[in-house]
Amino acid sequence: MAKLVETTDPKKDSFEREIVLDDPAVYQAADLLTNGDIDTETIRTNVAQMLNAFGENPERDGLKRTPDRVARMYEELLAGYRTDPIALVNDALFEVEYDEMVIVRDIEFYSLCEHHMLPFLGRAHVAYMPRGRVIGLSKIPRVVDMFSRRLQVQERLTRQVADFLMEVLHPRGVAVVVEAIHMCSMIRGVKKHDTRMTTSSMLGAFRNNMATRMEFLDNISRGSEQLHF
Ligand SMILES: [Zn+2]
Repeated sequence: MAKLVETTDPKKDSFEREIVLDDPAVYQAADLLTNGDIDTETIRTNVAQMLNAFGENPERDGLKRTPDRVARMYEELLAGYRTDPIALVNDALFEVEYDEMVIVRDIEFYSLCEHHMLPFLGRAHVAYMPRGRVIGLSKIPRVVDMFSRRLQVQERLTRQVADFLMEVLHPRGVAVVVEAIHMCSMIRGVKKHDTRMTTSSMLGAFRNNMATRMEFLDNISRGSEQLHF
């Protein structure tokens, strides 16, 4: 589960009114590939063929149901292509007089690298400086999920989370830092077990104002532990 931390707490009673978005730009920022269901039948067929190609016997007991399990697994791991971004945010946007930094740190996520379809996983830290609009804190991990449950590269994941929050909140700035380890570099090739990669996207005030950026970076480094898996 994601651990939610707020440096400064927007008071519930200061919420003035809920905002309802119906903006094509939000769909565009969500960068969905498709509205349709995942084609589980084709995945089943192809996984069975891969088992054959490995030299395995897809009919043996342990493997008989593997194509079906793998197909259903991808449905879950790639659910981010099919998240409705408007439904995701719409019951949780509020207009509010609040302009201090909001930080949600240590959001656990997992994703699949698009080069090898192997997992990369870690933590995301997200902050924004509101300009009259806030989003329920529990929604930010779901925004991270929407973009991480796809075939990804870490840099794009980081940028998409930042761009999406920019579009939905029109804040004074957004900052996203993602730390992750990549199975494809841990278990193959040079086998570097300690390859943690950090990416960041700083927009608006976080890009232009050094003090704002430092406040965020100080906060997320406080009490943080190394990634362990
Ligand atoms: Zn990879």
